[in-house]
Amino acid sequence: MLTPPESPGLPLLSVSLPDPGDGTGPLAVDPKKFRDELVVAADWVADYLSRIRQRPVAQPVPLEHRRALAEGGMPQEGQDLGALLEFVGQAVAPYPTGNGHPAFFAWINSPPSPAGVIAELLATAVNATCGMGEHALMDLERGVVRDLAALAGMAPATGGVLTSGGSMANLLCLGAARTWFLRGHEATDGPAYDQAHARLTAYHSDQAHMSVAKAAATIGLPPWRLRAVPTTAERRMDVEALKAMIDADLASGLLPFCVVSNLGSTASGAVDPIEAITQVCRSRGMWHHADGAWGGLGAMVPELAPLYRGVADLDSLTVDPHKTLSVPVGCGAALVTDPDRLREAFTYRASYLDGDQDWPWMSDYTIELTRPGTRALTLWATLHQLGRAGVSSLLQHYQDLARYLSRRVQAHPALELCSDGPLPVVCFRLAAGTALDRPEARADLHTAVAARVQARGHAYLATVCHDGETVLRACFCNYLTTADDVDTLLEEVRAAAQHLSTA
Ligand SMILES: *Cc1c(COP(=O)(O)O)cnc(C)c1O
Repeated sequence: MLTPPESPGLPLLSVSLPDPGDGTGPLAVDPKKFRDELVVAADWVADYLSRIRQRPVAQPVPLEHRRALAEGGMPQEGQDLGALLEFVGQAVAPYPTGNGHPAFFAWINSPPSPAGVIAELLATAVNATCGMGEHALMDLERGVVRDLAALAGMAPATGGVLTSGGSMANLLCLGAARTWFLRGHEATDGPAYDQAHARLTAYHSDQAHMSVAKAAATIGLPPWRLRAVPTTAERRMDVEALKAMIDADLASGLLPFCVVSNLGSTASGAVDPIEAITQVCRSRGMWHHADGAWGGLGAMVPELAPLYRGVADLDSLTVDPHKTLSVPVGCGAALVTDPDRLREAFTYRASYLDGDQDWPWMSDYTIELTRPGTRALTLWATLHQLGRAGVSSLLQHYQDLARYLSRRVQAHPALELCSDGPLPVVCFRLAAGTALDRPEARADLHTAVAARVQARGHAYLATVCHDGETVLRACFCNYLTTADDVDTLLEEVRAAAQHLSTA
């Protein structure tokens, strides 16, 4: 052990400290200047959002511009507030990929809710670290998680966390399922863990979102321990096939631990038979996770509600408020019927981080420690702008628009409906035997039609693989979209097909 040198008579502090300064380091800004700039920014935001409809749906980013942005490069000396507003106006805002435009039908990207935009700014000012300790926004997160679970129709004790999105929520829920299963088999460490872990097997339908495979890989499940269960004609998981696959795996000594069902498949809006899958899980000691990233709140729509019976008996559910609810990205949620299952999987301690038994930290339920409060406040603001009634009518609006598109497709002599839902996704193709048809290359024609529609900038849709064929796909999740936008889409498809078939 070191002992301090004898130094009687010497002054305790002979080093000179640097001048502490006057509290105006390089980040400090004159309060008036800050306020003025915020006002300009607020004007810019209001202007930008109010003129969404006037802009092209998408504007390709010129290659030189992409390169310049991607290259990086910061100045030696700082600029006033980073010259941010000018930069955003010139370099960022002109190049959105449709997000927010009411005639964007390609992917599940919605415009931000007005209350959410304001909440994002306010939460950023508060800048809470919602992982540990106490913060009002962390308690608010517990509350909005409960509100979301109630909207979905889950059991009252349900808890969970907000995440960056559906991919992260799927990962957390699979992690919770894995730990739960291993604990149940007394295989949480040592050789028992090694042996059990290598045999863990999970199941999803052949319509599952690829984030499920990513999540499985991340928790250490190789692709050959993740089974794709075939689907029926309506693209719902074939429960008899599921049972047969699980039982064959059990017979060969594997450990089936989890089924992931779809509440709204991304390609076509299919909802798996929840109750039947839960029954399979219960009888075989497995966890039932549902991926409802964009369709998880379907129970709020009367015409869909019957498909959502049994949500209260799920073990976990992924919901993405940044999809159908228009909460600014990224806001997803991992909802778990027994939230202790998340804690068992994700509570770790450090000597400098103690935790709280009565009010467990939010970091105990996830793999993030420092977490933003923006998710909780933007979700809260959006839910309070909507109310329960608003959530129902918003989701109903999407159903109505999808039904309108499918009716128009069916009535159109040059188009054929491939699938419509039940969630608001409509897949369609150019009809065989019409002037628009080139039978030798109809799939290529669909790709070319989508590309031409996208390039013209009046509407935007995507393609999807449907029964092995590339067809057109439109989905609905923009509160600004009207029937006129749907008409514009069809007119654009017709014009593009005409152009290509006569070219
Ligand atoms: C969008 C989506 C995801 C992924 O969610 P992110 O928020 O993009 O990470 C997962 N599952 C389904 C069914 C989705 O539609």
